[in-house]
Amino acid sequence: MHDRIQQLSPRLANQIAAGEVVERPASVIKELLENSLDAGATRLDVDMEKGGIKRMKVRDNGKGIERDDLALALARHATSKIHALEDLDAVATLGFRGEALASISSVARLTLTSSRDECGQGWQVSAEGREMHAQLTPAAHPRGTTVDVRDLFFNTPARRKFLRTEKTEFNRVDETVKRLALSRFDVSISLRHNGKGVLSLRAGSNRVEMERRVAQICGPAFMQKALHIEVERSGLRLWGWVAEPAFSRSQADLQFFYVNGRAIRDKVVSHAVRRAFADVLHHGRHPAFVLYLELDPASVDVNVHPTKHEVRFRDSRLVHDFLFGSLHRALADARPGQREKTAE
Ligand code: ADP
Ligand code: MG
Repeated sequence: MHDRIQQLSPRLANQIAAGEVVERPASVIKELLENSLDAGATRLDVDMEKGGIKRMKVRDNGKGIERDDLALALARHATSKIHALEDLDAVATLGFRGEALASISSVARLTLTSSRDECGQGWQVSAEGREMHAQLTPAAHPRGTTVDVRDLFFNTPARRKFLRTEKTEFNRVDETVKRLALSRFDVSISLRHNGKGVLSLRAGSNRVEMERRVAQICGPAFMQKALHIEVERSGLRLWGWVAEPAFSRSQADLQFFYVNGRAIRDKVVSHAVRRAFADVLHHGRHPAFVLYLELDPASVDVNVHPTKHEVRFRDSRLVHDFLFGSLHRALADARPGQREKTAE
């Protein structure tokens, strides 16, 4: 066969790289929303067609992209977020690899429109499967950015075959948006699908406003059965809501856990939570919770794998015992009979 070594073309290299970042509409939406948050947006509008397979559009009111940087934003390994290796130690943004837009535009038709201008003068570039329409065109756009992604995997049919039904893909998008929404109560978010409003969340960070958002996302029944918890010990802080055992689920579908504001999945965390609920939940039932763990950023490494939501705790034993202890106590306190006043 072809046993000579050849450099991959940039286009092919991007398409291969895209395999890691861009699996389905939900992964595109995650990248786009994170970019918007990194740009300081306080309002995110997500518009989907046919599960996102046909089209997905994210508009934000963030700081926008300079005219002369627009084309660069679509290039691989191009980022405004880090400039030197040392920056990685203190990276405060959700992204930093400069890969998302390059990857997405290598497997879809992407249009990027942005403005830094209060007066609404913006600029636009497009790319289709990596064939850049190099010319910048002026476009009216309020301060902020809109990324419009159409025909995902139009040029990679093998990838397209792995997509599920529009409904399933949309559900994943919905889940992604909700997961992110619970990490940023200070950001307004709307989600539309096929022209219909699906989710509309108002910004607001006081307790009442937060609980309204949790109820919108997890359902009013969750909120009614939720115990509010807030525990602080040895530099660790855990707060949020756990449903009483009476509100257990047949699936692990209402479990939101954040470490320093980032949604994560972690073995240490899952184990501690599972053990805390072990005495009070029937076998095969899953707890429901929205929990936030806050700790010194220096004692947790969040860059293990940015797309997989993994973290590594310096002292995982301490974290485990703190989580287990706090949840166990909250659940014990809430047991019928010895229960404190939880319903206000
Ligand atoms: P990364 O987020 O890792 O830097 P991306 O490919 O996601 O890489 O984005 C490339 C660059 O484009 C970003 O570093 C940022 O400067 C710019 N950018 C992307 N999306 C937005 C947005 N919504 N608002 C402002 N700038 C953006
Ligand atoms: Mg990014």
